[in-house]
Amino acid sequence: MIQTDDAPLTTTDPSRTGDPRRKSPVLIIRLDLFVSNAFLVRSGESFALIDTGADFAFGRLRSLLERHGVTKDNLEHVILTHSHSDHAGNARRLQRSWGAQVIAHDFEISSLRRGRSEFDRPLGTMAHLLKGFMPRTFPGFRPDVTLFEDRTITLGRDNYPLRIFHTPGHTKGHLCVELADGTVFVGDLLRGGYARHDTVDLPYFIQDELQLAKSIERVRRKRPTLLHLGHGHEVTGSAFQHAVMTGKLKR
Ligand SMILES: [Zn+2]
Ligand SMILES: [Zn+2]
Repeated sequence: MIQTDDAPLTTTDPSRTGDPRRKSPVLIIRLDLFVSNAFLVRSGESFALIDTGADFAFGRLRSLLERHGVTKDNLEHVILTHSHSDHAGNARRLQRSWGAQVIAHDFEISSLRRGRSEFDRPLGTMAHLLKGFMPRTFPGFRPDVTLFEDRTITLGRDNYPLRIFHTPGHTKGHLCVELADGTVFVGDLLRGGYARHDTVDLPYFIQDELQLAKSIERVRRKRPTLLHLGHGHEVTGSAFQHAVMTGKLKR
């Protein structure tokens, strides 16, 4: 099923529509992988994993997956928000050893196949410093599913919908994932949530400023209730809206 409109997934009361997709509760588990986050979304006995952490964090990723009951049989999807080494570092291992189906945008394919990340246009001193520490290489691979446009996939027996949509700017093929409860996983489209402060900022690396602004606006139109970020803690929808309204997310 392919959907391209930006209406929030949550506009309709599920009890009135009887839509079975909206009835299934999901659990979100943040996996802290030292330098970045990955997220498990659980529906019934099935899991989707959003991002995979850096190559060096594989031991921790594996033990966290096992602790939460993820197996080769119940891991249905691995979605990569983008191809940077701190997000795609373990995708190949999960694909080869766990038989995971890895989903990424078509524009990220060449980086994923080469196993090489470019950190474009650092924003500010901190970003310049960070650039020196970011691992450039990771195990390269070919994703199982490449997206050319937005797509809604389903998770578990209840067909819980995960809407994947294209949000270029940090990288060309960056993706966000929206759940029916208004949660949006924004990867590195935004930065923030550090030390539990409910704030957001522009990412450290911006490949295309205009595209980034459009993508942030696209997320805003969805009126998210909660944003999960590729680094740091979650941010409320109201803190995000406030940052947009006060011009904090403009250069
Ligand atoms: Zn990144
Ligand atoms: Zn990152």
